[in-house]
This record gives sequence, C-alpha cells and structure tokens, in this order.
Amino acid sequence: MANLIDRIEATLRDVPDFPKEGILFKDITPVLQDGALFNDITEHFRARYADQKIDAVLGIESRGFIFGAPLANALGVGLVLVRKPGKLPADKVGIDYELEYGTDRLEMHSDAVKPGQRVVVIDDLLATGGTASATVSLAKELGAEVVECAFLIELGFLAGCGTEPQEPSLDATQHQ
Ligand code: AMP
Repeated sequence: MANLIDRIEATLRDVPDFPKEGILFKDITPVLQDGALFNDITEHFRARYADQKIDAVLGIESRGFIFGAPLANALGVGLVLVRKPGKLPADKVGIDYELEYGTDRLEMHSDAVKPGQRVVVIDDLLATGGTASATVSLAKELGAEVVECAFLIELGFLAGCGTEPQEPSLDATQHQ
C-alpha cells in the first residue's frame, strides 16, 4: 500500500494557481495515463471492498466517475452518478452545500439507490469534505447505507476526514 501511495505521489502533477490564484491543483491526468498504476489503484479499492457486500458505487462528478466506473465493474455492481445541477434527466433529489465562497449543489436520480443498499462513495480528492459529505447526505436520504468514502488523494491540512455530514436540505426535482 505504501508503495502504491508513493507511486501516486510521484506521478501526480501539482499545478500552482489553477484554476485560480492560491490553489495548488492536484492533476490526476498523469496517473490515468499510467495504465499499470491506474489498474493497481482500481485493484487496491476492489480488494478493500470485495468482502463488504457492496451494492453500488457512487461516483462524484466528474473525476469520481473515472475511478468509480472501473471499481464498480471490478466489484460486479452498478455505478451511480452523483452530478452537478441540470445534468440528470429523470426524477432526482438534490442537496445544496457550502463552499469556501458560496454554495454548490449535487443531484442523484431518485431511483438510483434503494433503501438498505450498501454503497461506497468515491471521488479523486478530499479537500474540505463538503462534496463528499453532501453526497453521503443524499445517499442516506434515499435510504442507502454508506459503507465508506474512498479517495485517491487527501489534502491533509484541510482535515476533511473530520467533516460531519450536513443536515440535508433536500428537495426533489421532477423530471420535466
Ligand atoms: P471538497 O468538497 O472541499 O472536499 O473538495 C473536493 C472536490 O473538489 C473534489 O471533487 C475535487 O476534485 C475538487 N478539488 C478540491 N480541491 C482540489 C485541488 N486542490 N486539486 C484538484 N481538485 C480539487
């Protein structure tokens, strides 16, 4: 595992001041371009969840889709898309959550998970934890049991692991 972390750290590209000044952007594209590393990351997550009776993987838009899809496939379960507003076409639930400056919103199809299903949430990076926390709230609102949230990278100085799931201010948006 330590070896895998070392390889990820050595391969990631830090891009200062992207997308705006003061942000050190963790660019995962070199990791994706390394086929062996990408495969080992998927295998690491697969092994972690193989015996956890997982029913679905919830990938957070957009880089969570990239790691979520092969994981779901490797586990032999479905992939659920947790998307930014206005992208999902059918009946959905949404949650607004706080960013450092302003708010954002995530949505899931209402029928994407069933009550009692055991799910793993996955994204590329944990920063403040706001995005993952909002996703956990959404999944729980639909009755899912969130087994764990998985990330490739944690920005440790932001202490996102200590984030409590928000009280969901949920609303259902009807399919137009
Ligand atoms: P947060 O909600 O603060 O935990 O932010 C996590 C989300 O924002 C993830 O979907 C990341 O892809 C993205 N993100 C936040 N900070 C960075 C960063 N420094 N580099 C790359 N992506 C980031």
